[in-house]
Amino acid sequence: MDARPQIGIIGGGPAGLSAALWLGNLGFSPWLVEATDRLGGMLNLNFLGNDWVLGQRDATGPELAQRFSRHIEAGVARLWLNTCVTHVERAGDKFRITLNEDRQATAHALLIATGTRYRGIEVLADVPGAATLEPADVVCGPWAFAGLNALRGRRVLTIGGGDNAFENALLLAENGTSVDLAMRSASRAQAALQEAVAAHANCHVHAQACLLELVRRDDGIEVALSDGCRIIVDRVHVLAGYEPNTSALAELFGPLAAGLAFDANGYLRTDTAGRTGVGGVYACGDVCNPEFPSVVAALAQGARAARTIERDLRQFLHSAPAR
Ligand SMILES: Cc1cc2nc3c(=O)[nH]c(=O)nc-3n(C[C@H](O)[C@H](O)[C@H](O)COP(=O)(O)OP(=O)(O)OC[C@H]3O[C@@H](n4cnc5c(N)ncnc54)[C@H](O)[C@@H]3O)c2cc1C
Repeated sequence: MDARPQIGIIGGGPAGLSAALWLGNLGFSPWLVEATDRLGGMLNLNFLGNDWVLGQRDATGPELAQRFSRHIEAGVARLWLNTCVTHVERAGDKFRITLNEDRQATAHALLIATGTRYRGIEVLADVPGAATLEPADVVCGPWAFAGLNALRGRRVLTIGGGDNAFENALLLAENGTSVDLAMRSASRAQAALQEAVAAHANCHVHAQACLLELVRRDDGIEVALSDGCRIIVDRVHVLAGYEPNTSALAELFGPLAAGLAFDANGYLRTDTAGRTGVGGVYACGDVCNPEFPSVVAALAQGARAARTIERDLRQFLHSAPAR
């Protein structure tokens, strides 16, 4: 029987995996639930080379995901894939957690590492004519980066004003695709990306331009923009950002959820060490980091939260009367 205090981690992306590693090394018994059938989170959808993680040059997202997963699968943590938490309640000095299929777990502390999800076709819901589009006409989020070669010589409307949208436009343009990049407001992308897109002959930027209409025609998709442009494209790429996976937390945590705080966009608020407003509940990674969502920040925050848990629990376990 494992006598080490158990720590539950919800979410198996870089943040949750990093926390699992650190918690194991710090003398805890971590368990981790992941809603999908694989570990690695958003890395599994990052099809391009990820050149932002020191020492991992040329590795794609899925390759990094595999490296991280293999490390954790080597006995670091108990893992439940295809698993969700359905209820959390306090039970004495621990938490009692119900998982789907009525499985039960306990934990001295819980770490929320549920990340974000990309906004999809729902962002077009209010655009007149959007209902005339066919499923293959619109590609969202990470999928807009897959199979770019097939779009050589074609026309694409990329929607979004952040790094993802500009990177998508640039890759398409470099690939020989004609790209119109439209955003409602001014661009928020890195200066280098903005300059490269602006300079590329295959790109046309429509800043502060709303979509007025999208209509499927025989020769493509007709797009009307509020800057007066009317264009025909073969495909629409929606790169409209991400939102945190926090909407289910209120239901899961029941009365405890009253202590969780969120910002205006639904991101969990924590202190700088990863504590939420509920004692014993922590968060790390993109779910609480809208300023700097990235692999390295998620890894660092996971490690940081583990260290905080260790400090808090050591204090608590040593000060609590014998039970
Ligand atoms: C296309 C793309 C390209 C990117 N490129 C880069 C890059 O080049 N460099 C870089 O640094 N970053 C990049 N990122 C961002 C990077 O992947 C994320 O910042 C990082 O994965 C965040 O890690 P995380 O663990 O916080 O969240 P995530 O990776 O989102 O992982 C969260 C995990 O929690 C799971 N989950 C959610 N809800 C529940 C629940 N209720 N119960 C159980 N499990 C749950 C999810 O299934 C997921 O596996 C990219 C992301 C995308 C999508």
